[in-house]
Amino acid sequence: MARPYDLIVIGGGSGGIATANRAAGYGARCLLIEQGPLGGTCVNAGCVPKKVMWHAAQHAGSLKQARDYGFDIECKNFDWFLLKKNRDAYIQRLNEIYRHTLDRNGVEVRSGTASFAGANSVSLHGELLGAERILIATGAYPTIPNVPGAVLGITSDDFFALESQPERVAIIGSGYIAVELAGVFSALGTEVTLIARKDRLLRDFDATLAETLAAHYREQDIRLRWNCPIESLESAPGNKLTVHLEGGDRITGMDRVLWAIGRTPDTRGLNPQIAGINLDASGFVSTDQWQTTNIPHIFAVGDITGRARLTPVAIAAGRRLADRLFGGFTERKLDYRNIPTVVFAHPPIGAVGLTEEQARRCYGDDIRIYQGRFTPMTQALAKAGVKSLMKLITLGKEEKIIGCHIIGEGADEMLQGFAVAINMGASKKDFDNTVAIHPTNAEELVTLR
Ligand code: FAD
Ligand code: NDP
Repeated sequence: MARPYDLIVIGGGSGGIATANRAAGYGARCLLIEQGPLGGTCVNAGCVPKKVMWHAAQHAGSLKQARDYGFDIECKNFDWFLLKKNRDAYIQRLNEIYRHTLDRNGVEVRSGTASFAGANSVSLHGELLGAERILIATGAYPTIPNVPGAVLGITSDDFFALESQPERVAIIGSGYIAVELAGVFSALGTEVTLIARKDRLLRDFDATLAETLAAHYREQDIRLRWNCPIESLESAPGNKLTVHLEGGDRITGMDRVLWAIGRTPDTRGLNPQIAGINLDASGFVSTDQWQTTNIPHIFAVGDITGRARLTPVAIAAGRRLADRLFGGFTERKLDYRNIPTVVFAHPPIGAVGLTEEQARRCYGDDIRIYQGRFTPMTQALAKAGVKSLMKLITLGKEEKIIGCHIIGEGADEMLQGFAVAINMGASKKDFDNTVAIHPTNAEELVTLR
């Protein structure tokens, strides 16, 4: 067997790269094995290309509004292919930057699919590689359900490969990806039908935000279908697709149908059972608060653990793990409470802490809700009807803020600072005592009554 490494990292996405770089910074001999492009989901088929598309959609919205502001402009064309080409070039530059940083930090990088050969070794292209410690950071991949014709649909991975813009799409799902891609497609001119199997969007978020987003989407002519489990997909003449819903109803004439119903933990080819690693009932690698699996020298971070599946979470968990294992910070671990999150919908949603429903379940009548709706100033000259919304949830007499929920322009950029304050234990009084910045949308959060 080749000389043992201090750490073998399997998976070169957000979590794996962050851990390897930090560990190498402490002098650990690290090998990182990645089967695809460096950067993983976030860089290649997630946050980054999605945010580029979100910006494109924002530009489309601004162009529509420009006339209200006196600009005599006419948008003659939108070139999807050009946008994709520019986006791909940007991502390629990011792949190279990741490579250079790993090289600079002395992390050895090898391409291929790694699988466990034992509890202290992995196999790569038939070669056995040994390590003191092994990190699993293999992420997740889009779920395709087991219904007839499911393969006729595409996933978010395929969305980023589309070279031309479909005229009509059906998006199946109600979570982050469904609402984000529905917003993008619609703003860029595709006719969108969003099909949810239950009765609302974003069931993990505060219901008020979800209702407000649904109202915004209806105003943007996105068709929302509730309580519609899918029976099958079928191809129809003219390269079209038909979505058959349970109960007999169907949606016809779709150019694309996109599955956005969650992601499956990626242990394909990993052979975790050979090392005796425990998976949970959904196939995620079980870890304790230290990111340790049931095998004391095998760890896991990021989406593969099934906890708060967001890029900064994978990075933070990985860096803290490296600090603990190689930097001498014996108590370093990630606190998974109060993780802020943004849904890049149109308009965006920002949330940190408990939803009203969760807060009521935990604390009953000891909570108080502050909520305000307002029209953002950018809309002042337009005819848009749906308002932005801000909501704070406080606990007890001290009115400590335990939930903050925002939908509206700027929510994405606004939340980070408020999340710091909430993590530090801010109360409603602290918000009230902070002088507002006028005129902004954010000021609404410190003036709620
Ligand atoms: P990944 O980034 O998925 O990396 C895992 C890597 O492991 C992959 O590159 C894979 O090829 C590799 N791999 C798997 N098995 C093996 C093996 N056996 N051998 C070698 N390599 C292997 N999060 C946000 O915070 N903000 C966002 O705006 C956001 N937008 C998103 C949009 C979309 C469309 C999607 C799909 C996700 C989005 N996410 C977002 C989530 C974010 O991308 C993930 O939480 C993050 O990428 C998880 O990082 P990870 O390191 O755990 O896994
Ligand atoms: P989500 O978990 O957000 O949402 C998927 C939803 O699909 C479920 O909540 C469920 O909603 C519905 N669903 C599940 N199975 C079926 C089914 N068989 N038929 C119809 N609907 C179904 O997953 P996504 O795929 O949207 O995104 C994956 C993950 O990626 C997210 O959880 C998030 O962690 C990350 N992500 C983060 C982003 C960000 O930070 N901005 C953006 C994109 C992704 P219900 O139970 O209501 O039916």
